[in-house]
Amino acid sequence: MGLANKRPLRIGISACFFHADPARAVFKGKTLQYLEQSMAHWTASLKGEDGAMVYLIPAPSAQAEIQIEHYAHDLDGLVLEGGSDLSPKSYGESPIKPEWSGDYVRDLYETKLLKAFMALKKPVFGVCRGAQLINVALGGTLYQDISHQRPGSLVHRDWEIYDQNQHDIVFEPASSMAKILGNITSARVNSVHHQGVKDLAPGLKVDAISPVDGVIEAFTLEGDTPVSAVQWHPEFHDERNPEFLDCTPLLRHFLAQVRARV
Ligand code: MN
Repeated sequence: MGLANKRPLRIGISACFFHADPARAVFKGKTLQYLEQSMAHWTASLKGEDGAMVYLIPAPSAQAEIQIEHYAHDLDGLVLEGGSDLSPKSYGESPIKPEWSGDYVRDLYETKLLKAFMALKKPVFGVCRGAQLINVALGGTLYQDISHQRPGSLVHRDWEIYDQNQHDIVFEPASSMAKILGNITSARVNSVHHQGVKDLAPGLKVDAISPVDGVIEAFTLEGDTPVSAVQWHPEFHDERNPEFLDCTPLLRHFLAQVRARV
């Protein structure tokens, strides 16, 4: 397989949830746990020693013998993917509007995942909701809705154009992510989020912000546990938008961190 006798890396991806819905035609009234295809494809897009096999980590039932910690032991690294809002309950708030109630079940499950991988110092990469989850799990807070709580900020999510919505980001001078990306100072990225980091958790260091409104767009955890996250969706950056940041170096760096610990 061109892997130089090394086994492929085993990367777990957190599940998205469709909770039981009596109106859904398929699996009516059943709970679905799923992943988004381009997230899986992007994570597995490198070759040779950076090749990764991707596994969905389903939330185990409470009665199961095998729990999240067992998955963390068995897998080499974790990607926290995008999807639904976080619940404000997860950072000690009530929803300002009912439609911003988020997915508390998924918050609890992904917080367990993050902490289990961190306890073993296994690398974690967060995308969009994944970035927000990391911030909240480590003690930070979110804007429930950026445009509501920070009037005058950019439109960070537009349902009509979805992953074509975009803006510039600028990197902090000492950003480790900027260094990984070849000492760049700015870039163009998509923007598919209406929540965002409000108070950054202790230990997290900002890599990039949206310069127009100061919204945090990327961060890295200081210390020896490799945790980093981006607010944009690198897995949606493709040939439609050659001006978008090529995030392959971020993936390669993440997988190199994983490989170094296997
Ligand atoms: Mn944005």
